[in-house]
Amino acid sequence: MGALPGGAHDAACTGVTGSGRSRAGDRYGRHEMILTSAGAARMVTGSCHHLQAGDLSILVDCGLFQGGAEVRELNHEPFPFDPAELDAVLVTHGHLDHVGRLPLLLKKGYRGRIHCTTATANITAIILRDSAKIAAEDHEREMRKARRAGSEDEVRPPLYDLADVEKVVKRFTSVEMGEPLKLPGGVSVLFRPAGHILGSAYLEVTTRTGRVTFSGDLGNRESALQATAAAPNECDVMVIETTYADRTHPARAVTEAEFERVLKRSFARGGNVMIPAFALERTQQVLYLLKNEMASGSVERRPVYLDSPMATHMTRLYQSCANEFRPKIAEELERGVDPFEPESLVYTVSRAESQLINDVEGGAVILAGSGMMTGGRIVHHLKHNLWREEASLVIVGYQAHGTLGRALQDGAKRVRILGDEIAVRAEIVTISGFSAHADHDDLMAFITPSGAGKLLLVHGESEVMDAFAKQLREGGHEAQTPYLNEPLNL
Ligand code: ZN
Repeated sequence: MGALPGGAHDAACTGVTGSGRSRAGDRYGRHEMILTSAGAARMVTGSCHHLQAGDLSILVDCGLFQGGAEVRELNHEPFPFDPAELDAVLVTHGHLDHVGRLPLLLKKGYRGRIHCTTATANITAIILRDSAKIAAEDHEREMRKARRAGSEDEVRPPLYDLADVEKVVKRFTSVEMGEPLKLPGGVSVLFRPAGHILGSAYLEVTTRTGRVTFSGDLGNRESALQATAAAPNECDVMVIETTYADRTHPARAVTEAEFERVLKRSFARGGNVMIPAFALERTQQVLYLLKNEMASGSVERRPVYLDSPMATHMTRLYQSCANEFRPKIAEELERGVDPFEPESLVYTVSRAESQLINDVEGGAVILAGSGMMTGGRIVHHLKHNLWREEASLVIVGYQAHGTLGRALQDGAKRVRILGDEIAVRAEIVTISGFSAHADHDDLMAFITPSGAGKLLLVHGESEVMDAFAKQLREGGHEAQTPYLNEPLNL
């Protein structure tokens, strides 16, 4: 977590000053601001926004493009700015689609600091190490295949390795929520709680010529863990996410009642309940609810297996951050009560411990990754339980097209898992209220008090964005949906 020698200010002073330097002040006049979205432009992943304001050049987030092969290919494209010329990098939160290209930024010459909250720095370290490990495993598998075909030369090396990740970890500098971060050129940045996941912030950037607010990802007001994002201060331009701009989430009580009913039904049938869960935030939300429902007696106390080393790691991080949650959870943590640990919770870390769960034929709750069932330990549990009509699969996260999770959600009667044909007889239930993203009403509640003269919509499917932009324009707002790498004069 240390500051690095030659931090943001030094980078600004010693940056390359040759022909490659193209500051907003040089080319467009000193008082202009230019924003270029190098990711999450008319798509959800790859968040990365470059702001040039006078002499200052800053980056907000540097996420990985995730999804199909065409989208992932974008990770290999050069950045539309010179990383060596950036004065500062600001990170809103630790999801991979907001931090996953940070190691590339350093490899391409960025020499300054990475500013974020302490929780985000800790989460990002876990997320990036895991990402590098998976990339190395994938690369090894591809190489084995290529060696057999004699085409090793065609296999690209991973984008980055663990050593590259450790360099990123050394660049983090902690920022306190609500305390202005001063950057060169009279620029100041305020990190404010976004209510999305642990440590998440939205950023209010004030330059000599204007105020730009970057929403990052905003939370769901119905979250049991995160307090709702505070209303933003007034700004001139707002760069805002639009993931769920087309829907309204159910109330928390509805989600909890739905969850309780499915647990009761499954236990009454004597089956296991499988919950594929993303390691960050979703797992902790589910654990919190399980603890409450089992402690209050509204559902029977049964063994709960957290079968994911990464989710276990994240949950321990959550347990150490008492003052970051809604007051009820913060109080419990301060009293030494762990809100994320049902009494019957079993952490299974080793593979051998995980395999022992296969012998449990019914009456247990099994949380494991991956969230979309494309790999990880959950697939073993699916193989052992999906064919049992007394079992349940509870889907609590987004399932992308083409994934096993989506096929099951869409009602597939037979699926192939680890080479075996499995008949799907278990009850499959989707509970949508666990989303960590703002819905339409949350977004409007964030936009309205800002009085933003211009709204730039990012981080959403293009159809959702276009419909939301149209609606905003009809309401008198100026709304745009930037294209990838398109410089916009603000
Ligand atoms: Zn996020």
